[in-house]
Amino acid sequence: GGGPDGFSGSEALATLHRVFGYESFRGEQEAVIDHVVAGGDAVVLMPTGGGKSLCYQIPAMVRPGTGVVVSPLIALMQDQVDALRALGVRAGFMNSTQDFDERRVVEAEFLAGELDVIYLAPERLRLESTLDLLSRGKISVFAIDEAHCVSQWGHDFRPDYLALSLLGERWPDVPRIALTATATHATHQEITQRLGMPDARHFVASFDRPNIQYRIVPKADPKKQLLAFLQQEHPGDAGIVYCLSRNSVERTAEFLARNGIAAVPYHAGLDAGTRAAHQSRFLREDGLVVCATIAFGMGIDKPDVRFVAHLDLPKSVEGYYQETGRAGRDGLPSTAWMAYGLNDVIQQRKMIQSSEGDEAFRRRAAAHLEAMLALCETAGCRRGQLLAYFGQDSAAPACGNCDTCLTPPETWDGTVAAQKVLSTVVRLQRERGQKFGAVQIVDILLGRRSAKVIQFDHDQLSVFGIGEDLTEGEWRGVVRQLLAQGLLAVEGDYGTLVLTEASGTVLRREREVPLRKEQARPATARSSGGR
Ligand code: ADP
Ligand code: ZN
Repeated sequence: GGGPDGFSGSEALATLHRVFGYESFRGEQEAVIDHVVAGGDAVVLMPTGGGKSLCYQIPAMVRPGTGVVVSPLIALMQDQVDALRALGVRAGFMNSTQDFDERRVVEAEFLAGELDVIYLAPERLRLESTLDLLSRGKISVFAIDEAHCVSQWGHDFRPDYLALSLLGERWPDVPRIALTATATHATHQEITQRLGMPDARHFVASFDRPNIQYRIVPKADPKKQLLAFLQQEHPGDAGIVYCLSRNSVERTAEFLARNGIAAVPYHAGLDAGTRAAHQSRFLREDGLVVCATIAFGMGIDKPDVRFVAHLDLPKSVEGYYQETGRAGRDGLPSTAWMAYGLNDVIQQRKMIQSSEGDEAFRRRAAAHLEAMLALCETAGCRRGQLLAYFGQDSAAPACGNCDTCLTPPETWDGTVAAQKVLSTVVRLQRERGQKFGAVQIVDILLGRRSAKVIQFDHDQLSVFGIGEDLTEGEWRGVVRQLLAQGLLAVEGDYGTLVLTEASGTVLRREREVPLRKEQARPATARSSGGR
């Protein structure tokens, strides 16, 4: 590629050497930069850590004028600008954290053509005053970072992004580059369409992160499992532990701290000062663990995050990929570890059913969850499945660096077990007109006379005690897999189990139900039963 005379290409490379001190471009960087320097629009899909920043920083410096970078990550702008200035790049930013005088200085620098790059929050571009300012200076390129924020179906939707299509209308001669690490086909199309970039060239990098080892373990005692994982594999390492609720963030951070691991909480319920302090400790200290809700992490550039752990199931594969992608940006071996169990499935199904969203929203949320469950339950290579989800075929059938490759899960014929679960659900409903959750079903199968079993006379059911051949954990695994396979469903606010249309095929013995054997628990996760 490159400009007609190849001049832009060599200047880009010279800038890479001189300013950033790097030897060569990575992957698609050179092609993207050549295209944008030559004045073309680009949509760039590159995984976290892939090197998106250079794709707009170098064109911003090589082309005459100032590169305008639109980013939603206000909290990071100061750091980004400081980092660029340290390299001798003339950078500035404009956002709501500045006072009037600070902003005046940046405006003056921009108008005088003294800036290579200026970072703006998207809401700035809704102000006529900002647009007016921009039209009085010279702009080399518009970069729209985190471009998936324009997607209304995505998890990071920002209404201000919708207004960015006007950049192309108002500055038709200025190239635009939209960048994101979210890569499904649908998001990709939405970005192109909503930002009004029909003529953009598309650059799609491989989404494989070979240095990340993917592991998903059955959830038994998640905090203890996490502790064992950290102590055995990542002592003293920096990492992020994601939890669904603020409450569990707090409890997990406390638990880890009590057990000698430097850990702090991060969630939207903490005041801004505490959040900022914890974030900056994470960036600056070695080996701090941040327990967080997904409010944490977007745009965080810490290369040596050695692990990302999930104690709760992410809502989508996109979310999982983005969150785990924060590990190992330096390319060194890192772990994406998740504990996943029956309650995750029930809880998320319940959340979808009771959500405020309309029918279309619920259908999408359910589809996202299905894909996530399929990743959790697969007996094949996790990386292969992950890449396939993003429309990329992996070269090898098995990556050799995920749990299912390292210890291939055994499957067993779960047809009879499935029938036992389903007929218990049927009996309750037909004979008693009752619906119950997983705990009660499992207690009945195990023949346990719990208070609730006695209360409802469930020890009188013919199915009482028909499941003594499996343990409680195994039964919960069976129920979880039936839910994941759509052979059982969750209903209502109490998470009661009900049959699906497909359940009949199992009850009528029309099909077999292969199930995955639960991986043996790690020796350190104390199991009460023992061996
Ligand atoms: P992204 O925004 O895609 O997550 P970054 O732009 O932050 O990724 O880049 C990730 C890391 O890779 C940064 O530390 C960056 O300096 C480094 N990097 C990017 N391009 C190159 C390159 N061509 N050679 C060496 N290091 C690079
Ligand atoms: Zn694999």
